[in-house]
Amino acid sequence: MIEVRDLTKRYGDTVAVDGLSFGVKPGQVTGFLGPNGAGKSTTMRALLGLTRPTRGAALIGGRPYRELAEPLRQVGALLEARAVHPGRTSYHHLLGLARSNRIPESRVREVLETVGLDGVRRRRAGALSLGMAQRLGVAAALLGDPPVLLLDEPVNGLDPEGIRWIRDLMKRLAAKGRTILVSSHLMSEMALTADHLIVVGKGRLLADTSVEAFIATN
Ligand code: ADP
Ligand code: ADP
Repeated sequence: MIEVRDLTKRYGDTVAVDGLSFGVKPGQVTGFLGPNGAGKSTTMRALLGLTRPTRGAALIGGRPYRELAEPLRQVGALLEARAVHPGRTSYHHLLGLARSNRIPESRVREVLETVGLDGVRRRRAGALSLGMAQRLGVAAALLGDPPVLLLDEPVNGLDPEGIRWIRDLMKRLAAKGRTILVSSHLMSEMALTADHLIVVGKGRLLADTSVEAFIATN
């Protein structure tokens, strides 16, 4: 469902991603593990059409993001720096996304309930706590009930309860056959969350293996 093929991205002299290739299968949580600066966000941004590869391809269901019709129905993403208009309420933020992807308005209430934000749906996004803002990001990612989810460091800044919640959510979605790629710089977090690992360093693939096999050999 996710295919990264010989992906290279340069920013001037910096090689953020360097000939990276891997695939991500449905029905399991795939961890995208590597230290800060390893190229994880750049890879996810390439998959979302937010950055143009210098070389290679980043495909969702065999297509580049720009060719997806109603993209929110194909892929949902939680990125570290996705801007939400601070003056808009959670409800209106999601409603705007729903309308531009022909998703029924009833789905907005549904995902707000799923992430536990229904009670604050009229609060402006700028007045949400960090944990609530993360949940709103997750709600946006789930809005189109997409088969593919990309989550960039989703547990950053969350309290233990929020971390457990995101972990359980990912597992439930994987069990429903979704394809989930979740990045982290923490092996301890991935060991509790992921079934499979894509390990990167300096923009290159270091391992593509089950979590058990990775723990046994590292
Ligand atoms: P990770 O998500 O694994 O922390 P990133 O993909 O954010 O890694 O970054 C990989 C490398 O590319 C880093 O050295 C980072 O500084 C660089 N980089 C990322 N985005 C940009 C950008 N827009 N301009 C210049 N350099 C960038
Ligand atoms: P707006 O145009 O209301 O400011 P955004 O900039 O948030 O909307 O989003 C623009 C487009 O980016 C959306 O129509 C959607 O296709 C895509 N997008 C936004 N949020 C997500 C998400 N969480 N996951 C995947 N795609 C998204």
